[in-house]
Amino acid sequence: MNKFGTKAIHAGTHPDSATGAIMTPIYQTSTFVQSSPGEHKGYEYSRTLNPTRHALEKNLAAIENGTHALAFSSGLAAMDALLKTFKPGDEIISSCDLYGGSYRLFTQVYASWGLKFHFVEMNDLLSLEELINDQTKMIWIETPTNPMMNIIDVKKIAEIGRKNNIRTAVDNTFASPYLQNPLDLGVDLVIHSITKFIAGHSDVVMGAIVLKNQTLAEQLAFIQNSCGAVPGPQDCFLTLRGIKTLHVRMERHCENAMKVAQYLISHPKVDNVYYPGLSTHPNNKIATEQMRNYGGMLSFTLKGDKIHDAKTVLSSTKIFSLAESLGGVESLCGHPATMTHAAIPKTERKKMGIVDSLIRLSVGIEDIEDLIKDLEQAIEKI
Ligand SMILES: *Cc1c(COP(=O)(O)O)cnc(C)c1O
Repeated sequence: MNKFGTKAIHAGTHPDSATGAIMTPIYQTSTFVQSSPGEHKGYEYSRTLNPTRHALEKNLAAIENGTHALAFSSGLAAMDALLKTFKPGDEIISSCDLYGGSYRLFTQVYASWGLKFHFVEMNDLLSLEELINDQTKMIWIETPTNPMMNIIDVKKIAEIGRKNNIRTAVDNTFASPYLQNPLDLGVDLVIHSITKFIAGHSDVVMGAIVLKNQTLAEQLAFIQNSCGAVPGPQDCFLTLRGIKTLHVRMERHCENAMKVAQYLISHPKVDNVYYPGLSTHPNNKIATEQMRNYGGMLSFTLKGDKIHDAKTVLSSTKIFSLAESLGGVESLCGHPATMTHAAIPKTERKKMGIVDSLIRLSVGIEDIEDLIKDLEQAIEKI
């Protein structure tokens, strides 16, 4: 099997047989002509399958070491399709440190359709096992977590799932397939918000599920076609193009994030720095075992924990743009307490570590000297 960089560039794609075009064409078509009823070249209607999407799905399966991948019109649409494989009464145990949109989908959409959700601290394996009963059908985790950058031991979660005959799923958005392959660590399903590192240029909203189980893949393909949350061919083309540089981008994201973390940790106005690559990070050992590198995301707090100081920093950066989302080539900064995690009550937030001065960075691939200078002048404004 080819290595990551080769798969990122070549897997699932072939020069176009009609013209020799090296890039997968954007098959901007809804339907495909049949020579006689039922006689076609594998494509009938683009909701069911489109050649550009097909190439992307094969590529995604290859880079995540799966056998099947399904692309959806957003990360949440991918999760939505997965949740449709369950029945009322089924229970799902999720990590409590969770993407806000996933939490909303669980508790405000699927809870009223009869699915029951439990939220636990996943590094507390005893509490996790205590929640398991005959109705438990899936364990859902995110690692690294957002925004505290905790690392969950994927192998241990996979073992618990196998032992109890429960499906296990990892939202691998923060790590990307370049840094971590949960299927290799034993879980059943990987979910991505492709919107972030995979597409990588802040120009696409898309999601995917990658797996190795043919029966479940067929069930998910049935849901994908029946419910119809599919991405269009233009977005599939942009994602295929983005993936060609995923390994190169991720290397620079990691290198820059490590330097930013080291800079911040020695800054007199900075209190805590949360980056799994730092030896002071509580989960540094497991991060080193299960990830190839530590990623482009980090969070930090300011001494005195004043919301006003955080706002000063966030409105003073010139290269880091204040925005939701992450994983693009450009650096972004955000304020979890008032942006991504504003819906969580303050006492709950504080328990998770999301204090008022917590700032989250998605470190891009610009020149590191400029990024550090930008943070320096912004923190100077406090
Ligand atoms: C953004 C994100 C999602 C949702 O993906 P969309 O493409 O925005 O629907 C899910 N999980 C994580 C960790 C994310 O960052």
